[in-house]
Amino acid sequence: MRILLVEDNERLAEFVATGLKGAGFVIDVFGTAGDAEAAFDTAPYQAVILDLGLPDGDGLDLLKRFRSRGAICPMMVLTARDGINDRVLGLNAGADDYLLKPFAMEELTARLRAILRRPGAALSVLLASGDLTFDTIGREVRVRGELVAMPRREMEMLEHLLRRAGKVIPKRVLEESLYGFDDEVSSNTVEVLVSRLRKRLQTAAAGVSVHTLRGIGYMLADGKP
Ligand code: CA
Repeated sequence: MRILLVEDNERLAEFVATGLKGAGFVIDVFGTAGDAEAAFDTAPYQAVILDLGLPDGDGLDLLKRFRSRGAICPMMVLTARDGINDRVLGLNAGADDYLLKPFAMEELTARLRAILRRPGAALSVLLASGDLTFDTIGREVRVRGELVAMPRREMEMLEHLLRRAGKVIPKRVLEESLYGFDDEVSSNTVEVLVSRLRKRLQTAAAGVSVHTLRGIGYMLADGKP
């Protein structure tokens, strides 16, 4: 899942980004409201985490601008400001949750997962197709109950395919969902990942297959290839 992190304190941004990457998220980090807004317009984010005090503006104004453009993804506010007023302001502006600095990485990760699984975020916890189930919170893939080990990006790709099972996902959409701006992506990165995932699903006899629609995209369907 690709997350936008807006935080101008470099050490804190690094700490949060490292922690979230370790928890399996894809993170883009920006230190100003302007850069974050530009990124938000070009990349698909499943959640936004933002600081309130930014060098070129107020995080709450940024949040309101995201919402006014129709953004429905969950958003979490980070702030050193204490007091109930900021919390109320944040929630009125459309924040889904609030975290006061300093915080533990475990708490941020847990709260992020919680807002991601709320109804309205269009996310369900357990995805299933064929003989395969995917616990999106526990990050576990099972075939007939047996755990299937899988590298992080393959798991991310499988999640996207499962969420839109039976529908074609353009290659570009997968690419933008799986990789941040800082990741090196070559023209065949997605193909290579799909082919690895396909082999893994075959080996596990998962009862699902990933179809390639040449020049269009990919689709996950029930049944053997
Ligand atoms: Ca700040």
